[in-house]
Amino acid sequence: MGRVVYGSELAEKLRATMKEKIEGYQKTQERVPCLAVILVGNNPASLSYVKGKEKACEAVGIQSQFFHFEETISQEELEECIKACNENVEIDGILLQLPLPKGFDETHALSLISPEKDVDGLHPMNVGRLYLGQEGFVPCTPLGIMELLKEMGCTIEGKSAVVIGRSQLVGAPVARLLQNANATVTICHSRTKNLPEVCKKADILVAAIGKAKMVNHEYVKEGAYVIDVGINRNEDGKLCGDVDFDDVLPLAEAITPVPKGVGPMTICMLLENTIQAYERKLK
Ligand code: NDP
Repeated sequence: MGRVVYGSELAEKLRATMKEKIEGYQKTQERVPCLAVILVGNNPASLSYVKGKEKACEAVGIQSQFFHFEETISQEELEECIKACNENVEIDGILLQLPLPKGFDETHALSLISPEKDVDGLHPMNVGRLYLGQEGFVPCTPLGIMELLKEMGCTIEGKSAVVIGRSQLVGAPVARLLQNANATVTICHSRTKNLPEVCKKADILVAAIGKAKMVNHEYVKEGAYVIDVGINRNEDGKLCGDVDFDDVLPLAEAITPVPKGVGPMTICMLLENTIQAYERKLK
């Protein structure tokens, strides 16, 4: 029977360390780290994510500034806000909540965030740095996945890893991080043939698909480390992942649940990246 590794518990431990660190900065520095969160529109899911991020900042002592715009603002007004945050020396990290409402040029807006404040790791410069193996900001979900594998006691080097999903937000960067950690990585997607067969060879299986309970025992090798990134609703409207948890649990060495798995680690890594941005400025 696999071990269930809760991201919520790991995140709590990491937040306690961050809190102590920030209490130290409160005593020795003129200010503490500060995250700017920019939201356009009133999408309920985005509003709830933004609130969660603000609360998480507050809990560890990171300051946050919330810039909330109606979706009637222009691309130029949004870009002015990003530029002002870039120039504001009291802001360390900038998070542009995605997706932007229809009609906005997301790629261009993201490219205007200063790479040194890009705590979501989505600026082309940081994407490039990850691929070149250079220091930069890495997207929060992939970072959280790497922390979860560490917590599982998984030695990555030499292992065979399969990532289902190739998005720029999750699949592609986590595959790169696994490769940088010397795993042999296969990236699968909607056109992959014989998907269960490919996945069944994996020592590490990361599911970042967005299809409720798609990954069952047919996809999982005995003793595999299974990370479930998906956030879906099942037939009863309850949250569930991409992995059929009950079906896979007996096979896995360790597995993350949904909820309380990758999600809490994503927010935790946003805090970590914001502290890093602040510390880099101090240096
Ligand atoms: P995207 O929709 O951008 O990407 C999904 C990927 O899954 C694509 O690469 C797609 O392939 C692939 N895919 C879709 N259907 C299949 C299939 N039947 N077989 C194999 N591959 C398939 O999603 P994201 O990467 O942004 O997110 C993935 C999931 O993770 C979602 O449920 C999302 O809500 C969740 N998520 C969770 C986070 C957290 O913090 N827990 C954070 C971010 C996302 P193709 O490229 O060919 O289209």
